[in-house]
Amino acid sequence: MIRRSIAKRLLATAVAASVTAGIVGCAVNPVTGKKELSLMSQSQEVALGVEQYPKAQQTQGGEYLVDPALQAYVSSVGHKLAKVSDQPQLPYEFVVLNNSVPNAWALPGGKIAVNRGLLVLLEDEAELAAVLGHEIVHAAARHSAAAMSQQQILGAGIAILGATTQNTGYGDLVSLGSQFGGSAYIAKYGRDNELESDRYGMKYMAAAGYDPQGAVRLQQKFVELSKGSQSGGLDALFASHPPSQSRVNANVEHAKKLATGTTNRSQYQKAIAQLKKDAAAYKHYDDAVAAVQKKEYDRALTLTRQAQKLQPKEASFYALEGDLLAQKKQYQDALASYETAVQKNPTLFSNWLMRGMLNAQLKNYTAAERDLQRSTQYLATPHAHYYLGQVYEQQGNTKSALSQYQIAAQDSGDIGTKAQARVQALGSNG
Ligand SMILES: [Zn+2]
Repeated sequence: MIRRSIAKRLLATAVAASVTAGIVGCAVNPVTGKKELSLMSQSQEVALGVEQYPKAQQTQGGEYLVDPALQAYVSSVGHKLAKVSDQPQLPYEFVVLNNSVPNAWALPGGKIAVNRGLLVLLEDEAELAAVLGHEIVHAAARHSAAAMSQQQILGAGIAILGATTQNTGYGDLVSLGSQFGGSAYIAKYGRDNELESDRYGMKYMAAAGYDPQGAVRLQQKFVELSKGSQSGGLDALFASHPPSQSRVNANVEHAKKLATGTTNRSQYQKAIAQLKKDAAAYKHYDDAVAAVQKKEYDRALTLTRQAQKLQPKEASFYALEGDLLAQKKQYQDALASYETAVQKNPTLFSNWLMRGMLNAQLKNYTAAERDLQRSTQYLATPHAHYYLGQVYEQQGNTKSALSQYQIAAQDSGDIGTKAQARVQALGSNG
């Protein structure tokens, strides 16, 4: 769902910047002490992580807000491990994303995310520590700088969403909203990096007082799950962390050399109790999104409303309702659903964007401008810039319209093509 060409263009800019800075060379791996080729200095890496972290979160469902205590819990476990890592000084952050795909990732500089879809698969705190310890090693050992291409790093935060819009009206945008939260960042590390992350992650686990068997059980679970996995979310996790019996065996051997520790099963089960309770609600929502892709809009509406009944705090259930009501041309009801979504989660770009695009089409220009501008504060998208262009054009503000269209015109998809046409039209008139 990430537009590759945009990713490449941004990549070219980033590469040019790092070449200008003149820092490409050898560095010592802070975890293993070995000399390695490094594409970036550590300060460049940290800056890249800081810049891309909020954007990467936005494109993958945003922060999970229904149970803030879970955020605090995951963060506290993460920091316990980070403190005993080989690079405790990195600006570590840990976030739970509102995403059903079982996945976890690390951006350079210690910016780490774990999806709620992975947390519900874990049994205890030691298994969570295994996930987070593994990701901490990717950051601390600078695997991104050493082994990942910059495109992959940047791909995590690329804000461009590949909606296939031949949209003549709002109705065709219905699938757009439901696409915003569903993407998954898949980091591809080499096999050596994965083994290194398992190994040193277990070392951090033991140092922080966790039972390193948690890493054994985690890998065993992944092997089991991958056998039954045919489609859906699990594949995303396994693409980045391929499960194998040899990884299980390596962990078994390594655990023998480490001190045993706590599993904190009851603490973990308490921390994810709300998520477990809400599993049915999120299942309804995921089914609704799948129904939208099949254009089964009535079924999707029923499902997302069932989800609302089970967990009324979850904004995405109302955002999807808004998309579906707009598709049915029930515009006032759609605006009401979007209002609820925005109130329940004002920090997700797509809640503002979808309402802004609807307001623009309904000629509510003042409201549209507010919503669209607000969406770009969280994530700049070609859609927001295009519709801002429409708003300004309708208001007779050609100069502002042109500058918005020019930004949107950089997109390589349909929205970019439409923006290019407006740039030409306005340019030749002015
Ligand atoms: Zn990994």
